Amino acid sequence: MRPTEERYDVSGLIPSIITPELFDAAQAIRKRNAALSQRNRKRDYLLSEHIFCAWCRRRYGATATRNWRYYVCPGAKGTAPAERCRNQQLGADQVEADVWARAEAVLLDPKVIMQAVRDQQTDRHTTD
Ligand SMILES: [Zn+2]
Repeated sequence: MRPTEERYDVSGLIPSIITPELFDAAQAIRKRNAALSQRNRKRDYLLSEHIFCAWCRRRYGATATRNWRYYVCPGAKGTAPAERCRNQQLGADQVEADVWARAEAVLLDPKVIMQAVRDQQTDRHTTD
């Protein structure tokens, strides 16, 4: 790139391909995607992309503050207000403990698995 003093200001001479609003919206999405990206994470999130939002059906991602980890619906921010998801973020420690307790209950009691299989078969028969 040329030094600043050798650059020419061409703003206004070349028509924009996209509007400034669309550019800003794209930058916001880019920032958000980078924040939620697995490869940029410094913390572990066992359930990221495995929790589905009951409101908008999107997959929950993960985020953190300095001291807390959260799972968040990507529809809760950065979307038009009318389409914005109303579900709140979930504390990661609490959700992971709850999921683990349920998994442990299943592993310790095969009857739970058998009942889940029966329930699924019943659902299939009633929805077919
Ligand atoms: Zn949602």
